[in-house]
Amino acid sequence: MKVARFHAPGDIRVEDAPEPTARTGEVKIRVRNCSTCGTDAKIYKFGHHHIRPPRVMGHEIAGEIVEVGDEVTGWQAGDRVQVIAAIPCGRCEECRRGRMTVCPNQESMGYHFEGGFAEFMTVPAKVLAVDGLNRIPDGVGFAEASVAEPLACVLNGQELARVGEGDDVVIMGSGPIGCLHVRLARSRGAARVFLVDLNAGRLAMAAGLVHPDASIRGDETDVVDEVLKLTEGRGADVVITAAASGAAQEQAIQMAARQGRISFFGGLPKDAPIISADANLVHYRELTIVGANGSSPQHNKQALRLIAEGAVPVSDLITHRLPLDQVLDGIGIVSRGEAIKVTVEP
Ligand SMILES: [Zn+2]
Ligand SMILES: [Zn+2]
Repeated sequence: MKVARFHAPGDIRVEDAPEPTARTGEVKIRVRNCSTCGTDAKIYKFGHHHIRPPRVMGHEIAGEIVEVGDEVTGWQAGDRVQVIAAIPCGRCEECRRGRMTVCPNQESMGYHFEGGFAEFMTVPAKVLAVDGLNRIPDGVGFAEASVAEPLACVLNGQELARVGEGDDVVIMGSGPIGCLHVRLARSRGAARVFLVDLNAGRLAMAAGLVHPDASIRGDETDVVDEVLKLTEGRGADVVITAAASGAAQEQAIQMAARQGRISFFGGLPKDAPIISADANLVHYRELTIVGANGSSPQHNKQALRLIAEGAVPVSDLITHRLPLDQVLDGIGIVSRGEAIKVTVEP
């Protein structure tokens, strides 16, 4: 079978590999869709300390069960499934307290385990043990189901930032994650959603799909001034940075309304994690700054439900569908910001 393997930074190869078989506690799936994101582009460029090459990449996975290993119950060949990307251990103190997104023993598909850029793959027993294999609801296609993983992360971010009824929300970054944030915020009852990006082309493409109440071009306007103008001087109730930008994080703090919540949804580059902030804004305005680290198995299930119910449509966000041998083109399109969502169909 064909797989796309990471060998070293700048070296991803589409090559032949033996087909895996389902061992005890595992299921084998025929991968139908594995979508790409900025994380893949980052791995391609820099590698990752949790990846020991060669490793099949791909973590936004949907497919069909073709083989069920010993001791697996409740699943059979032909079942349509979505696979979580981040695998909590289920046993540590954080997991026991229900905080699976911050499990210190977290492992990941495409990092510790072979990923979904392959015709076939096995779902590790550890995934099944934490209820991380999800049935795809009727009416939801494999491509849409593969977007449940990033939507699950977005859902975790908005739960932590308490996005709700009547909120004015600013999303900084108009990539696939930014678009999902706009749609989810609307489904949670946000009053107005404003979308910001430095890349005018990508912002226009995103705005045409998700119709924010205003698009703000960070390349030619003062974003903080603009948000204050749009909100009658109050600022935004929630600001979410869906971009690896320290400047965006600093602006987010400046444009937050009193008792506003700020989500540092996107992480910063490892070599530039320091920002400067006016701590008195946080103090006097009673701001809350929260992070976001992936998603739990439950978030994945809920994301599939949101897609199935039409609360957060995703099919129109999938702008590119590519065969496995064009996975590098897909990663290139993602890193140049030319697409919203790129999905690979092995
Ligand atoms: Zn991803
Ligand atoms: Zn744990």
